[in-house]
Amino acid sequence: MLIYSSLLTGTIDLTFKLIANSDVLTVLTSQTGTNYSVTVAALYMLMMVLVLDFVSFFIHMLQHRIPFLWEFHKVHHSAEVMHPLTNYREHPVDNIVYALTNGTTAGIFMGLSYALLGYLPSMPVLLGVPILIFMFNLLGYNLRHSHIWLRWPGKLAMVFGSPAHHQIHHSCHPDHIDKNFAFVFPIWDVLFKTYEVPQTNKDVHFGISRTKPNIYTSCMGLYLLPFKFAFKPVLRCLKPAPNKATDKKTGDSH
Ligand SMILES: [Zn+2]
Repeated sequence: MLIYSSLLTGTIDLTFKLIANSDVLTVLTSQTGTNYSVTVAALYMLMMVLVLDFVSFFIHMLQHRIPFLWEFHKVHHSAEVMHPLTNYREHPVDNIVYALTNGTTAGIFMGLSYALLGYLPSMPVLLGVPILIFMFNLLGYNLRHSHIWLRWPGKLAMVFGSPAHHQIHHSCHPDHIDKNFAFVFPIWDVLFKTYEVPQTNKDVHFGISRTKPNIYTSCMGLYLLPFKFAFKPVLRCLKPAPNKATDKKTGDSH
């Protein structure tokens, strides 16, 4: 968590300064007004949440589809009992990937907004959290890492994230694997055809596999095993090739 927070704020700050000080974008600044309004602040918050949510969705999808990244993300999915603290059961490499990508995205968005508006709108917050995210968490999203099955009725389940949406993502039932990568808005899953939210949780089973034993059961294992598995293919490539001369002598030609 410490790695994530400091890397995230550092990346936002650096990217924002790079963009905001850009000579190219100052041209845009001079063409816009600087009047503060609640509408602009609300729109700014909505756009920021939408953009960051899409980037998080996309990175999450890559964490499942790129074998190297999956080895580190697997730690989060190895939880077989879900509770709100499962949110923090993440490998540091996962945290670094999220912090760098979200930080860069937020920094670019803030820099572009500053260049366009001439000022940085202050996001409406409650207890330091943007109101939109605060409301979202208040409406049950904090229970996404739990066994409490809550889903929005009908098509609303495709628009707003719910505990059910994320619990399916953690299920190892064949119908649920590699589904529901989105965080706040499942609409990204609908667009990328990875959406799956059934009416009930009768097939939900948390963890990586129902048949293989869970090997991520110790603190050292959680931290070190992902490195071993992620770099295995690289080490295999670095191994010296079999001696061809010896193969010829023994008549082994394949
Ligand atoms: Zn995942």
